[in-house]
Amino acid sequence: MTENTVSDPVERMFLGNGVFRETDFLPNLPYWRKILLGQKPKILWIGCSDSRVNPERITGSIPGELFVQRNIGNIVPSQDWNFTTVLEYALMNLKVEHIIICGHSDCGAIKALDHDDNSEYYIPVWLNNAKEAKDRVDAKIKKPETPEEIRDRSRLIEMENIRLQMEHLKAHPLVKNTIKERSVYFHCLYFDLMTGKLTRVD
Ligand SMILES: [Zn+2]
Repeated sequence: MTENTVSDPVERMFLGNGVFRETDFLPNLPYWRKILLGQKPKILWIGCSDSRVNPERITGSIPGELFVQRNIGNIVPSQDWNFTTVLEYALMNLKVEHIIICGHSDCGAIKALDHDDNSEYYIPVWLNNAKEAKDRVDAKIKKPETPEEIRDRSRLIEMENIRLQMEHLKAHPLVKNTIKERSVYFHCLYFDLMTGKLTRVD
């Protein structure tokens, strides 16, 4: 991985696209032609919008393998058209077999659960969907004091939030109806930015 030195971030993307065409697209042209016929991803990935947690890159997935919904805090909201249309398309049209919810370390959304920032209106409302994860963890542990304890608490909330969003997902009418008809496999995953490791959350 090389950091491009061109300063304009969009120009950098065009340069990156040129490299992609040379090293990936053109050498794999038959594959790119094959997927022109349509996508058949087996996995719906629900992850955080964080720019450091790119689902394809951290899992070695190739185009056509992941259908992706990313939002702040990898949340499964109770009422959100964006989320619900992605879920409907994934289950009804693509007929994905697996749904992953992936959280990650150092998640800004989880940190924001502790902040009352009056300058933001939409984000606190959105994060209400994750607040219960914080409450569950705080009910179980003593108040953190050292930097290590504070980090551990964030990690526990990040993981609890994945479980909580999985509960929301399994309670979603679209999911409940689908699993009456066929199998869907659910996975809670956690990406650690320190180690680059993806692990399961029980
Ligand atoms: Zn995040």
